[in-house]
Amino acid sequence: MSKPKIAFYGIWPEMADYLKNKMKGLNPSISSDKIGENNLDQKTEILAVFVESPLTSKIIEQLPHLKMIATMSTGFDHIDLAAAKKQNIPVCNVPTYGENTVAEHTMALILGLTRKLFPSVKRVKEGLYDFHGLRGVDLKNKTLGVVGTGHIGAHVIKMAKGFEMNIVAYDAFPNSDLADKLGFTYLTLDKLLAQSDIITLHTPLLKTTTHLINQKNVRKIKKGAYLINTARGALIEPEALVWALQHDQIAGAGLDVLEDENLIQNHEELVGYTQREIKTTLLNNIIIDHPNTIITPHNAFNSTEALERIIDTTVENIKSFIYGKTINQIPEAK
Ligand code: NAD
Repeated sequence: MSKPKIAFYGIWPEMADYLKNKMKGLNPSISSDKIGENNLDQKTEILAVFVESPLTSKIIEQLPHLKMIATMSTGFDHIDLAAAKKQNIPVCNVPTYGENTVAEHTMALILGLTRKLFPSVKRVKEGLYDFHGLRGVDLKNKTLGVVGTGHIGAHVIKMAKGFEMNIVAYDAFPNSDLADKLGFTYLTLDKLLAQSDIITLHTPLLKTTTHLINQKNVRKIKKGAYLINTARGALIEPEALVWALQHDQIAGAGLDVLEDENLIQNHEELVGYTQREIKTTLLNNIIIDHPNTIITPHNAFNSTEALERIIDTTVENIKSFIYGKTINQIPEAK
């Protein structure tokens, strides 16, 4: 393939120079806008997008020359894989850019909750230098339940070991070598929920993991545990989370992701959305406003080093495809 038409969408200005340098000679178009039906270039042969750009079947169908999709992320639930597969378009991701980056953010959320970091900081900024009412809990000797022991989950386990925590885990595909190496035990999900003081989610969003934490099993969580989610919002049924917060089933939640998070900032667009999406948005607002939650805006991946690694791998994926070898292809789209 010589000099294909390559289009990048959603590239923040501070990353554009780094990307241009890496893509020298290939002259891609680089837009800071998210992709949408109104800003497509029909000649595009290779498309690169961030998670903020949902690649719907409508968009894919409107690009007749499209030969490859590169997502600048590990997760791929923003892409209609069935539509890509139907047209034989490989979808390639960045499998491992952020295992330490997302794991570090996970620890930040855990410590933020257990040490009451945000109310503490707020109090001092407001002029009150007083620790009463801000008592936290130790991590040492507490049980961390890791759901999904892939790249990020395994990294969280390594870090939690440094805090002398006990680790239990659940994964649909348990890795016994990893369990022996890092020193943790696999349990069923129900047992993990019942035993963990802190539960942290690290599975991809798939049909099998949608609402993995739901209205039925949320009651099985150990009373007073913390729930952390840096994977994908829809792993947790929002009704279940609101119930757990309002009934003190959990002591708090640290979330970098929310179901239908794209709608939170776009209230004026809600007219076109389903009743379910509108309900989820209302529940998200309850979750955001709750005093025992810490919510970050899908920011766990967002470190300088991780962004450079994301661009490096995306460029490698694209160049490799151009030279006839597809790498990092998402199996679900094959
Ligand atoms: P990974 O593929 O290395 O690990 C995922 C693990 O989940 C695997 O061990 C797999 O066996 C397990 N799994 C799959 N289906 C399961 C099921 N039904 N039940 C239980 N376990 C199941 O992925 P990773 O690199 O560790 O990333 C995990 C997720 O984190 C990504 O899919 C992505 O959605 C999310 N993520 C979020 C951010 C962010 O900025 N918040 C950044 C990167 C990744």
